[in-house]
Amino acid sequence: MRGNELNISAIPAFGDNYIWLLRAGGNACAVVDPGDEEPVLEVLQKQGLDLRYILLTHHHPDHSGGIPALLEQYQARVFGPDDERVPFVDRVCRDGDRIRLADLNADFEVLEVPAHTRSHIAFYGENALFSGDTLFSLGCGRFFEGTAADMQKSMDKLAALPAYTRVYCGHEYTQANAAFALQVEPDNPTLRARAREVEKLRAAGRITLPASLGDELAANPFLRTCEDSVVRAARKIDPAAMPGTTTMAVIRAWKDRF
Ligand SMILES: [Zn+2]
Repeated sequence: MRGNELNISAIPAFGDNYIWLLRAGGNACAVVDPGDEEPVLEVLQKQGLDLRYILLTHHHPDHSGGIPALLEQYQARVFGPDDERVPFVDRVCRDGDRIRLADLNADFEVLEVPAHTRSHIAFYGENALFSGDTLFSLGCGRFFEGTAADMQKSMDKLAALPAYTRVYCGHEYTQANAAFALQVEPDNPTLRARAREVEKLRAAGRITLPASLGDELAANPFLRTCEDSVVRAARKIDPAAMPGTTTMAVIRAWKDRF
């Protein structure tokens, strides 16, 4: 029989990062992408939690920087990408791996989703997707170590997950992403509704996550590079844009200038 359901909450860090805290009723917990140890330690101590697992999506310091300090105080296993830049990862995760967080009774599948970084991974399970800086609500990460073709493949992989999946990404970028997405698809009704919702949430100082993957599929231009409306928008910039990778390249470059 299943125990308590997994509870996921945000620990804000550095202004617009989110460190995700996973609990299941007991005092065992996990964190995803702890870029800063201080806000994590504060929550752990205040709530009497024992950090058993750390999940890491990519090597960037704003996601990984707190890990060494957390390991000084907690004996946590670190699940992360195959990358020499994160030597503290003790369980290297590759595409298709299944990981079990036994103390939380939770299981996740690893998806390799390169482009933002070459070794970026995402964790999918328990109806949740921890997408790091690959998929944001209404946006995607910059292509620092990959190509538009890489990101297209990564987005295709995430798009195949169930629509009811809840997306927990690494940053609170949704409002700025909405403004850009509306440039691409000004008449998209799902996007317009989400943009209004996000505006209200941010005006109230509230988080815009998790997002529903179904809404993202209907409103996020980077998941919609094969849709006529998005390809048409890309062709206004580059008449040679075709559905898929070239449209991905055009709208990412457009967003970088936006
Ligand atoms: Zn990053």
